[in-house]
Amino acid sequence: MNVIDLYNKHIKKDIETKLLYQTYAKLTKDEIDLMIDTLITDTESDEDIKTDIILYLALFSYASGEYLPHRLYDYLLDNNIFYYGEMYLRADEKTAIKLIDILINKTNIKVLPENYINHILCAISRIPCEASKNFLIESSKEPLPNWAKSLYILPIEYAAYVGGWCIDDEGNIQKLFSENVQAFQSCEKKSDSSEAPFKLLEERCDFCGRHLISMFDEKEKLATCPNCTFSFQTIFTKRENNKITWHNKNRLCDILVERPEQLSKDDISDETTKMMFDCDYILIPLKEKRNATYTAHQFAEISRTQIGGMPTAINDIKYPNCPDCGKKMHFYAQFAMEDVQEYGNGLYYFFVCNHCNTVACNYDQS
Ligand SMILES: [Zn+2]
Ligand SMILES: [Zn+2]
Repeated sequence: MNVIDLYNKHIKKDIETKLLYQTYAKLTKDEIDLMIDTLITDTESDEDIKTDIILYLALFSYASGEYLPHRLYDYLLDNNIFYYGEMYLRADEKTAIKLIDILINKTNIKVLPENYINHILCAISRIPCEASKNFLIESSKEPLPNWAKSLYILPIEYAAYVGGWCIDDEGNIQKLFSENVQAFQSCEKKSDSSEAPFKLLEERCDFCGRHLISMFDEKEKLATCPNCTFSFQTIFTKRENNKITWHNKNRLCDILVERPEQLSKDDISDETTKMMFDCDYILIPLKEKRNATYTAHQFAEISRTQIGGMPTAINDIKYPNCPDCGKKMHFYAQFAMEDVQEYGNGLYYFFVCNHCNTVACNYDQS
């Protein structure tokens, strides 16, 4: 399919989305340029679908290098398009500076959309650079600037929760995810005895009494209590002597404090725990080379179970602080239930602190 056909089909939503990301990943530099020029000069089409195309370019099209061209970002800024923030993953510092200017000085000639503060902050935090870092730090100091007073979190917290980076002890930007990606693919079970990528461990959850379950290959040492994690409780474990153990600094979250029935120990047989992971498919490692951004957005269709790369944000990503050293934990892997169950929903996110051998798991669903 030539790139103009691809553009027109995508605009009309007349396209199979299942492996669309692979088509975008294969675009050459010239094709990316042509796609962008077509998009910028297209004054007829719906903005929403155009942003969908830009999102695909930003997540998957790397033939033109790390950054997408300035003219694409100038088009977005000129038209006050800040959402999806993930479109800005491939913007450079110049664009970050322009975004900051719009946020502070409202330099755009057009009327800024509702919610623009939150959306611009998300876009800025998607561009980890000195300008973004300094701006987020400065605007989190008391007294807060007026525009920051109505936010739920401080501007600097957008860095981790949205952008996936933090500031280390030396004041440098530290990414909280790995660029090396090992993705997995769903596969029909060959027999009922085919192994699902879960294993019941001896170790039990101190909150509900159920066995912990390890996900992925057991050697990864990634385990949680699905019962509690599913209720939005972050579960911490330790990797010690080649074993996974309950972390003694786990604390019940407010949701579970208010819902003690969730922690009922009436039926904690192994069978009920196993049922949670009654799988329709097994997972096999995928040979595909992926960039970290491939899984960054929930609307671009792609298999999401993987080690490394960016976590798929359904809401903000809750990077926990390590209960041992207090530092932000790094995203390590995510497990998508839809990859193993026909009606599976939601993602288990795993985080690690390699310094303390601590693992955290939390969960989110749309
Ligand atoms: Zn539990
Ligand atoms: Zn630690």
